[in-house]
Amino acid sequence: MSEMNPFQIAQHQLDMAAKKLGLDEATHELLRWPMREFRFTLPVRMDNGKVKVFQGYRVQYNDARGPNKGGIRWHPDETIDTVRALAAWMTWKTAVADLPLGGGKGGVTCNPKEMSDGEKERLARAWMRAAARELGVHRDVPAPDVYTTPQIMAWMMDEYEHIVGHSHPGVITGKPLALGGSQGRHDATARGGVYCVREACKVKSIDPSKCTYAIQGFGNAGQYAATLHREILGGGKLVAVSDSSGGVINRGGIDPERVVAHKLETGKVAGFPGTEPITNEALLELDVDVLYPSALEGVITGKNAKNIKCKISCELANGPTTPEADDILFGKGVMVLPDFLANSGGVTVSYFEQVQNTYNYYWSRDDVNQQLDRKITDAFTAVHKMQQQAKTHMRLAAYMVSVTRVAEACKLRGWV
Ligand code: GLU
Repeated sequence: MSEMNPFQIAQHQLDMAAKKLGLDEATHELLRWPMREFRFTLPVRMDNGKVKVFQGYRVQYNDARGPNKGGIRWHPDETIDTVRALAAWMTWKTAVADLPLGGGKGGVTCNPKEMSDGEKERLARAWMRAAARELGVHRDVPAPDVYTTPQIMAWMMDEYEHIVGHSHPGVITGKPLALGGSQGRHDATARGGVYCVREACKVKSIDPSKCTYAIQGFGNAGQYAATLHREILGGGKLVAVSDSSGGVINRGGIDPERVVAHKLETGKVAGFPGTEPITNEALLELDVDVLYPSALEGVITGKNAKNIKCKISCELANGPTTPEADDILFGKGVMVLPDFLANSGGVTVSYFEQVQNTYNYYWSRDDVNQQLDRKITDAFTAVHKMQQQAKTHMRLAAYMVSVTRVAEACKLRGWV
């Protein structure tokens, strides 16, 4: 089972939900595959004068509930199967948050850490030129993801508007505020995750202000989780953080603001004063109340799941836990807040961004956060209710909620 690629994992998870729901064969088969997928060959002039050819992707998984929606990842390990899996998870994510959207994902196989700003801009524009005819507010709306930023969204929006010849800010979300971005989009993924932890603590009768927590992965979501955990839950002790180059631990507590500042200054968490080094693997196995896997897929597997000691695992990353690990964690009583519920705050505020772009009227940050809290709390409640009814783990319960909603839309359209 540990040999499965991310897309096979996504299909396997759906299969489990289909079985539990007694889904008819045609609907099940329809939901196992992307509706459309595109692969682009992108020649880009690099700073040394030579042309480098990149592979880019966009997968439109299912748009029965509305236009496809989902981020674009730039990563050296990106493949069509990672993008397919992420597009499937976006479909379940917009459904669990009850947004009138479908699911999509894009990617480019590249290493942005080795690229200049000029090279990134040319790659962003090349991807948009290739994808433009498949995108738009009524078709498919991309957003940021791993290693893509508001600046990259701005270049892509600009390229799109040059192609169509008019203003169309809603073609992409996660834009800078000055170009039609939404208040609160920058920390929405982490904020939604912390709201889920708050709700999970209620049902588990844990005092959230006394929780210890650790964060694996220190990009956008991980950094904001560090500070928002304490702000929203009224306390808590951060004991360890890590990024792709290693981690740091201090059982007495790490100051969230200072470790974020250190990361922004040096590009790493390693070397943060007053801490000891810890590996990513060891961090996952720490005896903390809340663990935030916030990096990439496939880090909690059949091999290490038996050593996981947290009470709640809040998956800010997409796909961090394999199906084998899910069963082990469920058996151990760990409450896993599954990725497409726990990190749905990002796409929820992306949806608010689109709504604001369409109205050309912009909300305050408090309004955004309040609406987000309502959406996330409703999503958690629906999944938790299903979990109690179906007596299964939170991931399967979340699938059951989402698959029911997407299947209903497919049936009403007469597709199955
Ligand atoms: N990339 C984020 C995700 O995986 C956000 C997607 C969006 O805002 O459309 O949920």
